[in-house]
Amino acid sequence: MTTPKSAADAPAPAIAIRDLVKRYAGEPGSEGKLALKGVSFDVPEGGIFGLLGPNGAGKSTLINILAGLVTKTSGSAEIWGFDIDGNTRNAKRAIGIVPQEIVFDPFFTPYEVLENQAGFYGIAKSLRRSEKLLEAVHLADKRNAYARTLSGGMKRRLLIAKAMVHSPPILVLDEPTAGVDVELRRLLWELVNSLNDDGVTVVLTTHYLEEAEELCDRIAIINHGELIANKPTRELVDMAREKIVAVTVDKDLVAPPQHAAFIKAELAGPRAVEVTYNKDQMSAGQVLAILQEQGLAIEDVTTREADLEDVFVSLTSAA
Ligand code: ADP
Ligand code: MG
Repeated sequence: MTTPKSAADAPAPAIAIRDLVKRYAGEPGSEGKLALKGVSFDVPEGGIFGLLGPNGAGKSTLINILAGLVTKTSGSAEIWGFDIDGNTRNAKRAIGIVPQEIVFDPFFTPYEVLENQAGFYGIAKSLRRSEKLLEAVHLADKRNAYARTLSGGMKRRLLIAKAMVHSPPILVLDEPTAGVDVELRRLLWELVNSLNDDGVTVVLTTHYLEEAEELCDRIAIINHGELIANKPTRELVDMAREKIVAVTVDKDLVAPPQHAAFIKAELAGPRAVEVTYNKDQMSAGQVLAILQEQGLAIEDVTTREADLEDVFVSLTSAA
């Protein structure tokens, strides 16, 4: 980049998003879908940042606003210090986006796809890196194959190379591994890690907690168009260390049984108790023993791991 992202020397974020709102136009007379309800966060420079959330949360809407593909309703975004409205050209130059949907002309070869993209950015022939990029995404041997003959995984890798043609300092991948097999997922993770090692700030969206956990050093969670968490991965994962044991007891209760070792206990019905505990600190058997000590006879038991949804619930109810 020719211009520093910050006028001062203070470390500026790679991306700064403020009060971003998107309402999609609906049917005439209807309000339309409020896909982003005022989202604000920073993506620090140099890391791998995960934007995690279930389908329909608003992840692609946010990414597509950064990409200039969707018009925001209000709010602002800066990419590498460039406002997406005030300095659109530089903002676009600072970011490479791999869209969720795979689209390119089936009659171009991978080499041509990259050369066309370089032409689009006005990159001089002597400065182009098409061969190197093809090698980096393990497609050198497919250099001259028609895009339509590539497998889904190869197309995804080609899209990553295409997003990197103009050497942006930020790479954004929208659901790079949705619906791909385990082997390709590993390959994509390696690719993302090696780009990050080379200094590229990476943002990826995913609905897999495990993926965000494995790859990202920071995770923001978005749900129903609202940001409900934004934490270092370590802290967030600790919140998923919870496990729940649901028991049916032999008599009606008016209040849930309490114990200092429980994270919480709730009544799901007059005889249905749900105890949340930290699985690193106790076992389901110990939870049952405590309930029995309190005079409850247990008729039925099920346990489950806390999942992303439970993390959501505990985050939204804590707020
Ligand atoms: P995600 O990528 O997290 O799955 P999206 O950003 O694609 O979520 O969608 C967020 C919400 O906005 C969803 O309810 C979706 O149906 C709606 N939506 C997305 N694109 C459009 C559109 N072009 N027109 C109307 N509603 C849309
Ligand atoms: Mg999406």
